[in-house]
Amino acid sequence: MAHRHLQPTSLPRRLLLPALLAASASTRCVDTSIPDLSNFGTGGRTDGPFCSPEDMAEFPAEELRLHFIDVGQGDAIWIQTPWYESELLESKNILIDAGPSGNVPGTSPGGAVVVDYLLRNGLDLGERLDALVITHAHEDHYGGLEDIVSSFEVARYIDPGFDGGSSGFVQARSVATAEVQRLSGQVSVPAVPGLVPQLFASTLLFGEFVQAEVLWAAEAPPSGNISSPSGTDINNTSVAFSLQWANRQVLLLGDLEQEVEAQLVAAHDRGEINLTSSVIKAGHHGSSSSSTPSFLSRIFPQKSADNWAIISSGRRSFSGVTLPTEDTLTNLAAVLMPFHILSTENLDGPMQKAPGTEHGDDHILVRINSDGRVEACYAF
Ligand SMILES: [Zn+2]
Repeated sequence: MAHRHLQPTSLPRRLLLPALLAASASTRCVDTSIPDLSNFGTGGRTDGPFCSPEDMAEFPAEELRLHFIDVGQGDAIWIQTPWYESELLESKNILIDAGPSGNVPGTSPGGAVVVDYLLRNGLDLGERLDALVITHAHEDHYGGLEDIVSSFEVARYIDPGFDGGSSGFVQARSVATAEVQRLSGQVSVPAVPGLVPQLFASTLLFGEFVQAEVLWAAEAPPSGNISSPSGTDINNTSVAFSLQWANRQVLLLGDLEQEVEAQLVAAHDRGEINLTSSVIKAGHHGSSSSSTPSFLSRIFPQKSADNWAIISSGRRSFSGVTLPTEDTLTNLAAVLMPFHILSTENLDGPMQKAPGTEHGDDHILVRINSDGRVEACYAF
């Protein structure tokens, strides 16, 4: 399928959103082909509805949008906060993670995929991103940093403050923060100074109409293993957020693993926090190290058509394991209705991707309107 691009226009950006309105070729394009436009897949465990042109063509007032951009193995979530016609209030644009750089064997050019997606869906080169959050110091999250800061004006850069001993991360952060500061942006490292970790610290990051909390952000691994941290140690420093809008809650869990999930469950059971939600970005790309049944039972206490789990993963093999794992899909399927697990990997059915097309064709759009209606679909 041909790529579709927005043509230049003088209309306000929020009225344009749509990618599907205009077509032109661009060297920025990555593979965004999609083989089948039926409404649903055939019942694979990560199938779900496809977005209609109407879903993509306009961004109505008083709606919260979350785009889980298909960067292959990695994360990149673009959040558009509600805008109000009557109050002349603009939407905020926040990016959580930048995808991988593509420089690591077996990974995708995630930063380029993110830039391409944002440009096709309403942002212009050089336009403002209100915040860029790098959840933790792993390449599948920070690798695309330079692509982002060189393409958009980032008003605020945030990471948890722990570099995990990664020279690659230190270098990428250094380049990014220099560019942010050159454009008079703000750098917030660590994410929550002096609070390690901080449960449910309110943040205005998502504007005044989306109530949001920092669910987790650790300046050092909770395990205490700072000098030679494992992947798990670094994952458990992830900045995670809860967003509330229209009586719905969304949990963005970074790569948090079961050790932190257990702490959040304990806090929930003590009544300190409420994990019950409608939408989650499943932790750690659907790895078996996250999404434990006890955690999911607090988030989704009963099955509902309004509840969805989103998995951001690719075909990269980790010692023979690809994500999401069958264990995680089983745990999620136990608490969600059919077709309510969507994955950028999209493992099953006619949508199954051939090797080499592991990124760019299973973006996921979640829409929550002001009445609390929640819809999720595969975008492209
Ligand atoms: Zn990751």
